Amino acid sequence: MGAQTDNRAVMETILQKIREAPRIMLFRHYRPDGDCVGATKGLQEILRCTYPDKEVLLIDGERSDYLAFLGPDDAPVPDEVYADALGIVLDTGNAARISNPKYALCREIIKIDHHINVEPYGDYNWVEEERSAACEMVAAFYAMFREELKLNRRAATCLYAGMVTDSGRFRYEGVSGDTLRLAALLLDAGVDRERLYAHLYLREFETLKFQAYLYEHMGRTPHGVAHLYVGCDMQAAFGLTFEAASACVSYMDSIRGCLCWMAFIETGEADGAIRVRLRSRFLPVNRLAERYRGGGHAFASGATVYGEDEVRALLAEADEMVRMYKETHEDWM
Ligand code: AMP
Repeated sequence: MGAQTDNRAVMETILQKIREAPRIMLFRHYRPDGDCVGATKGLQEILRCTYPDKEVLLIDGERSDYLAFLGPDDAPVPDEVYADALGIVLDTGNAARISNPKYALCREIIKIDHHINVEPYGDYNWVEEERSAACEMVAAFYAMFREELKLNRRAATCLYAGMVTDSGRFRYEGVSGDTLRLAALLLDAGVDRERLYAHLYLREFETLKFQAYLYEHMGRTPHGVAHLYVGCDMQAAFGLTFEAASACVSYMDSIRGCLCWMAFIETGEADGAIRVRLRSRFLPVNRLAERYRGGGHAFASGATVYGEDEVRALLAEADEMVRMYKETHEDWM
């Protein structure tokens, strides 16, 4: 548990800050995913069980239907409530991505994150880029201070949900021995995996029809960038939420010869913004995403483009990247 030991000092500071704070407010990023929802709810539950006299709030304007089974957020509160709170922001690399802008009202901010530390916006920043999920960090926090902190089944389920979803069911690059040791700790707390997996992975009949349609319409650049375009009309035709439509990027994750794949999903916003979800094997895509108003992890990034020309330009750049990679590497499959 090397990284964990290296970061012991900042973790101890965070625990001390938590001990001293009568009120703690938790924050996450826009477009909530399993990791940011699991990490905030998991930490909230740990803190509520451990310190029943503290007020621990999670307030956010955005909710995810897919993750609704993890329970609702708290009701909005007046601005004064934020002012004397300790704010903890989870799973969010830069301040602009924090979904509840009122986080800035908190008297002190702690950042806990596993993305590249582009902006240490916290008064205290605990960032471990090699962690597979922010939920893994919360689990590591619990593990380090388990003599004081309490973990119930609900907290463990939230954290396990985030670890499973952010690691592609423990398959991606960031998964380490420590990931599995911490996941084991959560399982020991009574996670009902069968129910959890049903909540996460059962799909609607219409979704499978949509998948079939997309496979029919999937494209591929000359050197191996698979791509899908999902317009608003398609989302309406198949009765899909934006979130469900966005999940289609994973349909392209195992095509031989395609080292990079991306989904373009129309947001329906007035400015014509198109969300891009970029994924890759072997060659990093985050620098490419950064050139198109985005960023993220080496092999999983997001971006925003406007109009067909930008879609084409992004695909052309990605195609060139793959071409060069294939020319200079072997065994890329
Ligand atoms: P997504 O495909 O939207 O799930 O994004 C993949 C990863 O890239 C996520 O972990 C996000 O944190 C990150 N990401 C997505 N969009 C952006 C953005 N506009 N700026 C920085 N990072 C992003």
